[in-house]
Amino acid sequence: MSNSHFTNLLIKSVKLPPFRRTILKKMDRELHRSIVENDKTHLKAIQEKRYDFVDSMLHMAIGNLDKGWITSKEIEKLSGIFVENTMLSNIASKREIRDKFKAEHGFSAPNFITISPSQACNLHCYGCYACSEADSSPHLPFDVVDRIIGETRDKWGASFVVVSGGEPYMYRDGGKTLVDLFEKYPDMFFMTYTNGTLIDEKMAKRFAELGNVSPAISVEGFEKETDGRRGKGTYGKVLKAFDNLRKAGVPFGISVTATSRNCETLLKDDFYDFYFEQQGATYMWQFQFMPIGRGKGVFDLVVPPDKRVLLYRKWETQMHEKKHCIADFWNSGVLTHGCVAYGGNRGYIYIDWNGDIMPCVFVPYSADNILKLFEEGKTMTDALMNTFMRKGRIWQNEYSINDKMHPQNLLMPCSIRDHYINFSKNILTAQASGENNEADEIMSDGEYLQKMDEYDRKLSSLTQPIWEKDYLRR
Ligand code: SF4
Repeated sequence: MSNSHFTNLLIKSVKLPPFRRTILKKMDRELHRSIVENDKTHLKAIQEKRYDFVDSMLHMAIGNLDKGWITSKEIEKLSGIFVENTMLSNIASKREIRDKFKAEHGFSAPNFITISPSQACNLHCYGCYACSEADSSPHLPFDVVDRIIGETRDKWGASFVVVSGGEPYMYRDGGKTLVDLFEKYPDMFFMTYTNGTLIDEKMAKRFAELGNVSPAISVEGFEKETDGRRGKGTYGKVLKAFDNLRKAGVPFGISVTATSRNCETLLKDDFYDFYFEQQGATYMWQFQFMPIGRGKGVFDLVVPPDKRVLLYRKWETQMHEKKHCIADFWNSGVLTHGCVAYGGNRGYIYIDWNGDIMPCVFVPYSADNILKLFEEGKTMTDALMNTFMRKGRIWQNEYSINDKMHPQNLLMPCSIRDHYINFSKNILTAQASGENNEADEIMSDGEYLQKMDEYDRKLSSLTQPIWEKDYLRR
């Protein structure tokens, strides 16, 4: 199947409601042929998971279109920017940029950027690594954020930007907000990790007009868990934000941090039925609580290894049987063939409100700062070239990229969480410093290292048999 053929079918299904179900079945078959049957370069079981993921996103989007919760304009925009360029790399001008980058640098350009332009947040969540409400919170100048996004597009051929925080919609600089950036880059797609409390009717309508924004709104479970971590009354505001987005026809997702406190909720079907079927989420990103930054004192919030495996099984069945589109940064490593940090593996880098450049939101160490690089006349590409980033990419290549038919255990893909000893000895360099004091302190904390190592060993003993049986021997 040619990729543009897929997009043509998608647009046809949007425009021809009476034939939508028939076209959807055709798309299911063609996707399966393209992703699973015709691919001889990856393990079949991995491709089946990738098919389940893409197919579930398709089904959720079309289902929400049927319900009138997403507009056809949004689906068309998503097809062009997100599906064709970001997922399928099918836009010629962008492919040219990417080919040139690879020829010059010997590795593929990052596929997206994650940026937290401001630390400001209007909530005070327990265990949060970035939390402040003052207007004077650290933030990046607007022209710097603008340049970061421009270079992501023009030097890497990428068109996907993830915005985090703090609370992204608190960002202000010189009277400019994120919406000014959404307007300036109509050919880029923005996903914002937000607490949702600032998304009123007016903002939702503006997103619908622009057509290049999808908020992923944080929930912790239902009302008890969400208000318990994020503050009383937050859950009600989140439901109102969903309502505003549905009425405006904007696709949205939910983002969930799995902890030892809410994982029982996340193991029950009614959680997924509620957010996907009743509230209209199109996708869900799951993050498992990482004991970094302020989290060091709350190690007990980490999901234990046995529960993480149960969440992995839940992810499998929710996607395969219910067509609920879910990705878990740790349990879904097969979708991306492993870790996507360090600007390698067609992945990303992360830039925070101070301009510090990190391999990933969950790797709180930085060897470069974007403000400094720009002052020195350098570009975003220079941010990928320090030894810390290079060492991370070498590990990724050895772990899962160089031999895609024989990758190591992708149920433990994370360079830091799942291979902590290796990270501290072989990836982290002396030039890299912690994003805060606690990140620096934990590097010489023997107890912390021991707890992380114990977790990794236990996880390995639980996931290696699954990896061998369900992926390698199939
Ligand atoms: S470092 Fe871990 S969390 Fe970050 S991209 Fe790699 S696997 Fe994902």
